[in-house]
Amino acid sequence: MSSHRYAVFGHPVAHSLSPRIHAAFAQQAGIALEYTAIDAAPHDFVAALDRFADDGGAGANVTLPLKEAAFAICAQTTDRARRAGAVNTLTRNDGQWHGDNTDGAGLVRDLTGRHGLDLRARRALLLGAGGAARGVAPALLDAGISELIIVNRTAERADALADALGEPDRAHSRYWRDLGDLGDFSLIVNATSASRQDQGAFTLPFHLATPRTLAVDLNYGEAAIPFLAWARAAGCHDAVDGLGMLVEQAAEAFEHWHGVRPDTDPVYAALRDRDKVLVTAD
Ligand code: NAP
Repeated sequence: MSSHRYAVFGHPVAHSLSPRIHAAFAQQAGIALEYTAIDAAPHDFVAALDRFADDGGAGANVTLPLKEAAFAICAQTTDRARRAGAVNTLTRNDGQWHGDNTDGAGLVRDLTGRHGLDLRARRALLLGAGGAARGVAPALLDAGISELIIVNRTAERADALADALGEPDRAHSRYWRDLGDLGDFSLIVNATSASRQDQGAFTLPFHLATPRTLAVDLNYGEAAIPFLAWARAAGCHDAVDGLGMLVEQAAEAFEHWHGVRPDTDPVYAALRDRDKVLVTAD
């Protein structure tokens, strides 16, 4: 039984680039690593995780729609995972799962480091209130945005996220149907999975954006096309997809598990090479 087994759990998960990213980091670091993708429907997630632990699983990433369920099964969680109420990184310690959330740190590192963007004082609109939105919201507040308005198809989830953030002066929820009345934003983050479903893509009013707006889609690849196309048509200054965030959140997890900080630039460049049309940040 190998003690170097890692995996990403999701449903679906076949699209995940995480196995490729972790393999590249392991090669850089000279670490022998097994990292696979495991498809687990929500009702089977806990059993699948138990089987993985029994087979020597030492750590796992968790993607949609399982991040809130992953939070619920952890014996211990980091402060940033508790603020998010969602876990994307699990580590097996003393027969129990310990949970962290590296999504927010990954997003902020990509935007401020790789793309050189300043998030401070931006008025932000967050579309979505699922596991990814929960991960990035606290990090955006910590990065110094002036206001965070959360809008979600299911209004109760937006309310719950705003409550959990505990900053009523800066973070609040609004109804999706009122999007046209919210003014404009200097940061708009798409944290929905709408474009991954048939006929799921939504339309947004152009006047949400200004010529200095930064539009960020947490999706990447084909799933990022509709929102980034809207951002360009609306005249946003920058439009960034989620590929860099994906690589940076993976690097945070890799460092936590193996004690080595990977060099993300060559891994990002290799993945970007496949998707080069989809980033327009300057
Ligand atoms: P999730 O927990 O399943 O949440 C999905 C979110 O999308 C919910 O807010 C949901 O609203 C909303 N949604 C789904 N279909 C919609 C539609 N047709 N119209 C409007 N809203 C819709 O998933 P997640 O983990 O938050 O992930 C969200 C997306 O971010 C995924 O596509 C994922 O690939 C991406 N992501 C990227 C990274 C990265 O590193 N780049 C990291 C994490 C996630 P309801 O609450 O109403 O269902």
